Amino acid sequence: MGVRKVPGLLCVVLLCWTPLCCGRPDPRQREALMKMELAREIGGSVVLNEKEKLLDEKLHQLKLQDMALPEFPPAVHFFKAKPLIEQSPVFSLLQRMPKGAALHVHDFAMVGVEWLVKNVTYRENCYVCFKDDRSVQFLFSAGQPKPQGHCSTWILLRTLREKLNSTELDNSFIRNLTLFTEDPDTAYPDQDVVWKRFEQAFLVAYGLVTYAPVFKDYLYEGFRQFYMDNVMYVEVRALLPPTYELDGRRNSKDWSMRACQEVLHRFRAQYPDFLGARIIFTVHRGINETEAVNAVKEAMTLQRNFPDIMAGFDFVGREDSGRPLWYFREALELPEEQGIRLPYFFHAGETDTEGTDVDQNMMDALLFNTSRIGHGFAMARHPVVKELARKMDVAVEVCPISNQVLKLVSDLRNHPAAVLMAEGQPMVISSDDPAMFGATGLSHDFYQAFMGFGGMNSNLATLKELVTNSIRYSSLSSTVKEKAIADLLVKWDKFVSETLL
Ligand SMILES: [Zn+2]
Repeated sequence: MGVRKVPGLLCVVLLCWTPLCCGRPDPRQREALMKMELAREIGGSVVLNEKEKLLDEKLHQLKLQDMALPEFPPAVHFFKAKPLIEQSPVFSLLQRMPKGAALHVHDFAMVGVEWLVKNVTYRENCYVCFKDDRSVQFLFSAGQPKPQGHCSTWILLRTLREKLNSTELDNSFIRNLTLFTEDPDTAYPDQDVVWKRFEQAFLVAYGLVTYAPVFKDYLYEGFRQFYMDNVMYVEVRALLPPTYELDGRRNSKDWSMRACQEVLHRFRAQYPDFLGARIIFTVHRGINETEAVNAVKEAMTLQRNFPDIMAGFDFVGREDSGRPLWYFREALELPEEQGIRLPYFFHAGETDTEGTDVDQNMMDALLFNTSRIGHGFAMARHPVVKELARKMDVAVEVCPISNQVLKLVSDLRNHPAAVLMAEGQPMVISSDDPAMFGATGLSHDFYQAFMGFGGMNSNLATLKELVTNSIRYSSLSSTVKEKAIADLLVKWDKFVSETLL
């Protein structure tokens, strides 16, 4: 895939090009031009077998049905579209489809928040305090914890549940842990407001997920939820904050990496066809130069000590209000200077503001030899970046629901990835923070990509290229990739046959 064949007729058309001023277009030329465009699309060079062609026809019919819905799901906010999507036969087909890898997900937003509330907050020794800004904070502790600024006294949740209506309390926790609201346009009038709530929700999850026993269970449940959505491999962008024990002791990053290894070992014993997971160590882009140097050094150490599960390094946080990559250049040059290989997986171009330092991040990411570009929402406006990314075979990780909820685009038919998809730019689909948005695994995002910016031209071949891309552009070694793609294609053929029954 990736190398486009130009059919013979098209060469003739191109070579014998006659000026288009005659006013009588040749229908053969028209057809040839249309074919030429389709050949450039993602999936344009995938040749479907007979069974796949049958499924593609079925999928096309289902797509037409969804296109005719009075409310077209990709055109409305995901919080309103979700129930519509979940009724769609296209969605149920995409759920069953083997999706390969999730290459852009964050550590504290992988697991549906229902699990955090219904499972984790019901565990022993869980305390809660209510903050001035109407959010909450959680902490596990053997005894009464010390008071925290801007927060009420810590209350043992078990005691609170005896006094209050548990369902109402749980619902209020769920509201705190996600961005979901019935009226997103009123609740989040602009990007500043939605990002503030977004970062607040992360902090609410923080106290729960960083409790050492929960950290392990959370990873396990995260892998399980992705696996149940037919995802076979995950690359997690992880902040790796210190986890804590009941007596307040704190564990190191090494502890978290070992915990991840142990959880994966247990998970794969239970689900042997799950390929595994790797960690992209991340730090907030609000840090200063010295802190960045330390973070890169830490990443190099982790890379040396945990080569099997450590994939590389990235910055997180809102690009528009954080520091641009160029600011961190001294830190980012360190591995090269020391002859150490530390792959980068930079978030870049998650912005709709053109021509700023932040808008330059994609170019800088490529100059630092990034392995992939996270989001690349701004890429369609940068022809040189697009060309360079193609030459370097760097894929863009497109996360449609995240971009819509965080207010970069409202109607997903207008997502810039439509252009990238039509041009066959290397691309994978991912879900960023599915738990925050009420999405699960990758299926909701695949629906939005396939129905929204994929339009009528995207078909089964598009999907096949996207799912194989997810392994191809992963951080796995070439030998492992080869085997993983072979395994994925076996699953794919099974899916095609079973769906045709
Ligand atoms: Zn992200």
